[in-house]
Amino acid sequence: MSKYWSPQVHDLTPYVPGEQPREQLIKLNTNENPYPPAPAVEQTLREFNASDLRRYPDPSSSSLRAALADTFHVAAEEVFVGNGSDEVLALAFQAFFRQDKPLLLPSISYSFYPVYCRMYGIESRSIALTDNWEVDLEAFGNDNGGIIFANPNAPTGHGHGRKAIAALLERNPQSVVLVDEAYVDFGGESAIPLIHQYPNLVVTGTFSKSRSLAGIRLGYAVASRELIEGLERVKDSFNSYPIDRLAEQVGVAALSDPDYFDECRTRVITTREQTRDRMATLGFEILPSQTNFVLATHPTHDAGKLFIGLREQGILVRHFNTDALRDYLRISIGTDAEMDSLIEALETLCR
Ligand code: PMP
Repeated sequence: MSKYWSPQVHDLTPYVPGEQPREQLIKLNTNENPYPPAPAVEQTLREFNASDLRRYPDPSSSSLRAALADTFHVAAEEVFVGNGSDEVLALAFQAFFRQDKPLLLPSISYSFYPVYCRMYGIESRSIALTDNWEVDLEAFGNDNGGIIFANPNAPTGHGHGRKAIAALLERNPQSVVLVDEAYVDFGGESAIPLIHQYPNLVVTGTFSKSRSLAGIRLGYAVASRELIEGLERVKDSFNSYPIDRLAEQVGVAALSDPDYFDECRTRVITTREQTRDRMATLGFEILPSQTNFVLATHPTHDAGKLFIGLREQGILVRHFNTDALRDYLRISIGTDAEMDSLIEALETLCR
């Protein structure tokens, strides 16, 4: 506690991210992509002119916004970019959710949403998941200061189709609905085409997962011009988009190779389904997943002990210390060889 902190900071605890190990561990704890970014990214880095760093970034991030607009079949004015989708989310909380009614969010979802609520003084109300751990869209009432959820949801893995999201938007025309699509490329259905019909919809996305660029910090929002202008009004710098020159070029390169993108995400999806089957034969119950991770529980083996056992065998997964998730492990999908090691380790631990 410090007398120098503002009141909102007193209640916050620093985010404890998945461990970033120094040793050579098999790292399946933060939903990164096991495959390198598109080859064009490496070429861009090789050819990047360091002297260009003397100059401020393009104030409108026009090349990256144009590339995203092309990818999603929207106008560049319907795209916003930031340093990771976490930054875009933070700006959205400030731009849209500081209302006199509570923001609605799922009871189990991305752990940063409640943190942003506390940080920006936003009241929230959590909506229980359905019995089979899906986000209960029907239960989101229309008297609210906004709605946010991840689709597919994290860490539960289930995603709703576009039709269900359109139905929610029909019922809720008066506040902003934010759909966080961090994991959508691993089998979900994007709500982006709905932005032309629903001016209160904002869809966020990231380059950290399906584009293999967690290290460069790039995220985006796609929405009506009206909402994009809201984000532009709260962003940090008066004269530029938040992202730097290098990140912008890397982002454009990552979007330039749809074949490579499809190959990588298909590989992850295939490995995920094989992992589910193999874990099921060891007695695990695994939630269906449209993401690059699985959430699994074992009826007789304690998740906390399995986490420690795996760590001892050089494999890092995620164990959340919350009441709802204490019995579960969240396991990111790695390469086939990494998943072989995981299964081997689980075989010894679950014997
Ligand atoms: N949304 C969800 C649901 C996530 O799981 C994550 C990654 N932890 C993010 C957003 C943020 O991703 P990034 O800031 O790397 O774009």
